[in-house]
Amino acid sequence: MLAAMPPPSSTPPNQGEPPIGGTPGEVAPSPVVRDRDDACPGALRLHTADDGGLARLRLPGGILTNRQVEALAVAAERYGDGHLGITSRGNAELRGIGDHCGNGLAELLRHTALMPSERHERVRNIVASPLAGLDGEGHGTLHPWLRALDALLCAQDWTTALSGRFLFALDDGRGDVAGLGGDVTLLSRDGGSALIRVGATTLRVAAADAPRAALAAAHAFLATANAAGTGAWRVRELPPGHEVDLAAELARAGIPAGPAPTPDEAPAPVPPEPGAVRGPDGTYAVLVAPVLGRVSSGQLRALAGPGGEIRITPWRGFVVPGFDERGARERLAELGDAGFITGPGSPWSGVGACTGRPGCAKALADVRRDALPGAGGLPVYWSGCERRCGHPHGDWVDVTATADGHYAVAVRGDAGEHQLPCPQGELAAAIARARGGRP
Ligand code: SF4
Repeated sequence: MLAAMPPPSSTPPNQGEPPIGGTPGEVAPSPVVRDRDDACPGALRLHTADDGGLARLRLPGGILTNRQVEALAVAAERYGDGHLGITSRGNAELRGIGDHCGNGLAELLRHTALMPSERHERVRNIVASPLAGLDGEGHGTLHPWLRALDALLCAQDWTTALSGRFLFALDDGRGDVAGLGGDVTLLSRDGGSALIRVGATTLRVAAADAPRAALAAAHAFLATANAAGTGAWRVRELPPGHEVDLAAELARAGIPAGPAPTPDEAPAPVPPEPGAVRGPDGTYAVLVAPVLGRVSSGQLRALAGPGGEIRITPWRGFVVPGFDERGARERLAELGDAGFITGPGSPWSGVGACTGRPGCAKALADVRRDALPGAGGLPVYWSGCERRCGHPHGDWVDVTATADGHYAVAVRGDAGEHQLPCPQGELAAAIARARGGRP
């Protein structure tokens, strides 16, 4: 039996997941020098939060079978606080885990294939286009890539040296996750080819070689990071003059690669809207989102679908495939009754929040209690302190608790930060103005 291990340092980890922003070739604004391993929690390495143990469960591609959905509902009830949090990488978090519950949780995860390798459980960070193979966009299913890359990661000893933040992004060609700042990004292309991007370098490989190429890229990153000696956890943290030599690594691995056919512009992420989408085969997938990114065990069970799987999106939503038209309509109505956001008109659509009080010791406010519904526009994210854990990508409205008991409102994004005046008593009005975009 494996005991739940304590975090390696007293530094609290980022309690939402690190934002997955970034653009191709992006480098950190100043050299990053790390003198410790990352403290990201996992399924075995629990973080001790103010409301108990916190476990983060890596779910490659956000994919869960119906049996695994039931297992997570049981885990939330038996070991946690009865809820499951959804992260900005399509992973799941259990909170409020009692002392001595780590072994039971690990056992449950092992028996439901949610932890194929204990040593690798924190490095299985893979986001994937959540509608791949379902709606006729992109170049089809990503399941073969997901399965192959996950198996390759778990089969190697050296991959355990990757940080718990190193991210693989698998895009079916529509560009939705290619802009999410993956350390290694694969983009499906026509004609059995794929693009692989690491830092500023993009190369073309055969689609069949793509998972092996992604693994080779991770290997090259570790070698580069070791040579740089700055303890980088992610590609964008590598110091200038220490770029990953992707072409050389692919050649060493015997993977044919060529230049990318066109300059590779990363499109802005396009989160799918709640509702139903029809696939080319006439089946429907239902898309819903939990209010403030958390579901109860009962809500989780309500998601289990006729297709045998559900998918968690990097935008804290769920995709449930396998319906006919009527079934999709009925399930949407049921999930709406269960408290999910089922359409863009919901006042909670686009509203997110970090953990805040009482779960996070750094929090200046109970942001989940204070969060207000709204009327659409830019996504809005409530943070209990300036760390802003798990905030959205692109332009967004930042509502952050301040030490004087109020909130500061700003529009943030690639174009920088724009603060809005927020006189006491006018918070809702300030947020509504900010959601309308930059002045
Ligand atoms: S209060 Fe601060 S540290 Fe805690 S979860 Fe929120 S943003 Fe992160």
